[in-house]
Amino acid sequence: MRTLELARESVEKGSSPIGCVVVNGQGQIIAEGRNRAHEPWPDHPHEVADSSFAHAEMVAFYRLGRIEKPEECTLYSSLEPCLMCGGAIGMVQLARVVWACDDPWGGSGRLIKWDMHPAYEKTEVVPHPFEDLEQEATKLFAPEARKAYPAEGWEAWIKRYPETAELS
Ligand SMILES: [Zn+2]
Repeated sequence: MRTLELARESVEKGSSPIGCVVVNGQGQIIAEGRNRAHEPWPDHPHEVADSSFAHAEMVAFYRLGRIEKPEECTLYSSLEPCLMCGGAIGMVQLARVVWACDDPWGGSGRLIKWDMHPAYEKTEVVPHPFEDLEQEATKLFAPEARKAYPAEGWEAWIKRYPETAELS
């Protein structure tokens, strides 16, 4: 899946392994993003990097600008979006958000019950629908969870995905 390729590219560039795509109602990819938090600030005005805000989803949203027919669009991410990105997804009222694997430490899925929030209830939330991609995504993110999360976060991660404890 494209989100995982983008996640790998982020690691090569020194950022965190997270990638996402936004797909329109016709199934076409209209934007891509990958984490760029540890990369130099870009020259292009619609690009964001070198910032804690430079998450894959925010990078894709900045590139998109105003989204046509958000109610037909789906955002696919390699990892459960954080509170900032989950909030942005709900705010633009995308039809759907799908992620390959959970983020039991920084993910927003358990924090925002989107179907119970009047401003965010338009977005359907689809956590890890594909088992093979979930496994691949957890393998990719486990070393980052070990490196970047505090002890408590890493514990939450291996409790959720114990099979990845050896990988990092
Ligand atoms: Zn985020």
